[in-house]
Amino acid sequence: MAEEPKETKPGFLNPVAGFGVTFKAMFKKRLTEQYPEQKKTTAPRFHGRHQLNRHPDGLEKCVGCELCAWACPADAIYVEGADNTDEERYSPGERYGRVYQINYARCILCGLCIEACPTRALTMTNEFELADSSRADLIYTKEQLLAGLDEGMVDTPHAIYPGMDEQDYYRGLVTEAAPGTERQVAVSKGESPQEAASTSGPEEPASEEVIRR
Ligand code: SF4
Ligand code: SF4
Repeated sequence: MAEEPKETKPGFLNPVAGFGVTFKAMFKKRLTEQYPEQKKTTAPRFHGRHQLNRHPDGLEKCVGCELCAWACPADAIYVEGADNTDEERYSPGERYGRVYQINYARCILCGLCIEACPTRALTMTNEFELADSSRADLIYTKEQLLAGLDEGMVDTPHAIYPGMDEQDYYRGLVTEAAPGTERQVAVSKGESPQEAASTSGPEEPASEEVIRR
């Protein structure tokens, strides 16, 4: 028969010992973060919200190839490519991403999609505040993911830099929009010439139909 373990201290001291742990913790450095009042800076390579990048003249880098969607283990990306025309051009080459959606209810922020992207169109930012109250709001559209316009850029659609081809864009030979570049009319989005003239900055979100899966 196993021997009973010997009591080393009287039983009534056990609660006091428990409070001792609490008492010691009172003088330790606090680890509590005062989020969201104080936001912590993430590591530089933290995987946050995605971004669809532009060339230095504002044309889009995405060519609608869907490689990111195929690489995604969570089936969180939906892409539909379309052909550019000289009258309505979104990227320097033949194709562009007409519809682009990321479902953040599915995304696990693993980064496999950005590794698969052949044009570096898709990268990830440090933004981590992705919570929302509805499933539909967690599906980000192309307009929400597209990078803003820096100096020297013109919003899409617009003509390719005169005398340059798609390869020249990837060689870094285009550094800003050609002088006199004007935004074209996005006829495929049902836009009229008057609307095109009034659009100078990035487009408003939610003009793209959200495909819920
Ligand atoms: S980060 Fe991972 S889970 Fe999220 S969209 Fe990209 S591949 Fe899919
Ligand atoms: S983001 Fe990259 S991988 Fe995805 S469709 Fe566009 S070009 Fe292809």
